[in-house]
Amino acid sequence: MTDTHSTNSPLEAVANSAAAKQVKGMLGGLGVTLRTMFKPAVTVQYPHEKEAPPTRARGVIALKEENCTVCMLCARSCPDWCIYIEGHKEKRPARREGGRERTVSVLDRFDIDYALCMYCGICVEVCPFDALHWSPEFEYSEPSIAHLLHDKDRLGEWEATVPVAEPLELGAQVKGAKK
Ligand code: SF4
Ligand code: SF4
Repeated sequence: MTDTHSTNSPLEAVANSAAAKQVKGMLGGLGVTLRTMFKPAVTVQYPHEKEAPPTRARGVIALKEENCTVCMLCARSCPDWCIYIEGHKEKRPARREGGRERTVSVLDRFDIDYALCMYCGICVEVCPFDALHWSPEFEYSEPSIAHLLHDKDRLGEWEATVPVAEPLELGAQVKGAKK
């Protein structure tokens, strides 16, 4: 008499175990879907809802024009070459009676192309005259990428949104301060 019960071949056993894993994975995925379905959304429905960025967020670079000496250091240090500066020299009277006439640099153009800027902050760091500052302002998107080139007037307007610097930590020294 022959045995009517057939045992699974090795191939069938592998297929069954793969199917079991797939079902287990699918049920696990559905479990995650069900769990997250009833949690409140973490995304913000911008622009209907707005979050306040952290105070020192790198939103946009603001220019304090009166501090800029047209030294070009920021433009030369920018890895993206997205700062465009033009200026000219002007003669000014001597500060003291009998002194020599002074030559000063006057800023004509200071543009930053935010379509190229990578927000590295090097320009802000290298400016020796404290003319560039980070502002947390972030709402300056434009319908066209070509309009992301902002001039010194716009950069100057953002200066009003720069947060007041926190006082230095105890023991910290002001750069250039005399001891
Ligand atoms: S943040 Fe960096 S990339 Fe942007 S303008 Fe300054 S130096 Fe250039
Ligand atoms: S480094 Fe500062 S002072 Fe010099 S050009 Fe740039 S913003 Fe002006």
